[in-house]
Amino acid sequence: MRVEVLCTGDELLTGLTVDTNSPYFMERLLPLGEQVARTTIVGDVREEILEALLTTSARADAVLVSGGLGPTADDLTAECAAEAAGVPLLESAEALHALEARFARRGILLTPNNRRQALVPKGAEVVLNPNGSAPMFVLTLHRATLFFLPGVPREYRHLVDTEVLPRIERLRGERKDSGFLAFRLLRTVGLPESHLDAKVAPVAKLHPSVTFGFRTQAPENHLKLMARGRSQEAANAALASAERACRDVLGPYIFGQDTQKHAEVIAALLVARGETVALAESCTGGRIADLLTSVSGASAWFPGGAVVYANAMKEAWVGVRGQTLSTHGAVSEPVAAEMAEGVVRATGATWGLSVTGIAGPTGGTAEKPVGTVITALCGPRGTSVQRHRFAGDREQVRTSSAAAALEVLRHALLEPGP
Ligand code: ATP
Ligand code: MG
Repeated sequence: MRVEVLCTGDELLTGLTVDTNSPYFMERLLPLGEQVARTTIVGDVREEILEALLTTSARADAVLVSGGLGPTADDLTAECAAEAAGVPLLESAEALHALEARFARRGILLTPNNRRQALVPKGAEVVLNPNGSAPMFVLTLHRATLFFLPGVPREYRHLVDTEVLPRIERLRGERKDSGFLAFRLLRTVGLPESHLDAKVAPVAKLHPSVTFGFRTQAPENHLKLMARGRSQEAANAALASAERACRDVLGPYIFGQDTQKHAEVIAALLVARGETVALAESCTGGRIADLLTSVSGASAWFPGGAVVYANAMKEAWVGVRGQTLSTHGAVSEPVAAEMAEGVVRATGATWGLSVTGIAGPTGGTAEKPVGTVITALCGPRGTSVQRHRFAGDREQVRTSSAAAALEVLRHALLEPGP
């Protein structure tokens, strides 16, 4: 079926209010197997609202209309709905009763203005709104079922959950719409979006019933799979097959799925192996520690980390030798290696992870330009070092560095234990 959204309100067109109602509805509609086909936003202007009601109802099966049900003169939606349907506005006894009860509870006098909120187009179904004074109403116009909701997000959300979505499900049932959806989000890090796209393109061709979507959430790139089927089982099967093919081509670039966080995945690997990791951070300034400790229970597998910027602190806290620093410089493979080894000595952790680099915008040289970052991992099988070159400003370099360091660790944790 075709579902549309119509938001009304001048504040949505002046930038004063951002439409957060529609995404709320869309997110919850999708699991029912429907996707919003179009969203329209109009101001508190009679002609605009009327025209939008007529056009959306002529092409959609269901329209979610919100806003403009309040008591003030700029609240025109009910009037426009009546005009569009060619019916008068009538006072709903049920709505008026609820309104009176609501005002009595609060000890406020009901003004004629407020009474307006009990007016609904003749023939509309009235649904009481427990969180506000304007009721919701449902009206059939042309081929469409129109749901009129107040714009106030708290009221809107409750009515969407309890009244609109169940009705849309029922409409789908009556129409015998049999489209079902299944979703999977595959999360990668360290793979540019264009590479992700290129790797996955041949897979997408072989799975026409699955929509492939890409989303960047730096430093991560996500691949969203949405499968359609005539039954939930068919959608699930189409999804599983596409997912398997994606996993084959992306392999270990995929660190997690759906809502899994990078640090959570690493934490789970450490816990499963009964191992711990300690950090020595320059360049990332404690950001990796922050990411790791965002996971509840971190102290079980994260004894601690050192933020070591001055050479003296690299020597004092993680045992980097003065000689290594003076020979190779702070941003160098030997220093990164000694940082990782030193923090293992200091903490007794299974793994020592270190970062040193030039986040910029100052401090770059021809030999070591801004964005040069070295990570090292010391573990049961010795120490490995990697040199990276990241683009972007200071913030981006630090974000990329932290993600890259965690990736080095994650890949090591995917190998069989000693
Ligand atoms: P009221 O009885 O409060 O007048 P109403 O149905 O007339 O309710 P509006 O006047 O359009 O609704 O909006 C009420 C409040 O809800 C306003 O603060 C408005 O900014 C907010 N609002 C309206 N539409 C949206 C939306 N799409 N997303 C987020 N907030 C919204
Ligand atoms: Mg209003």
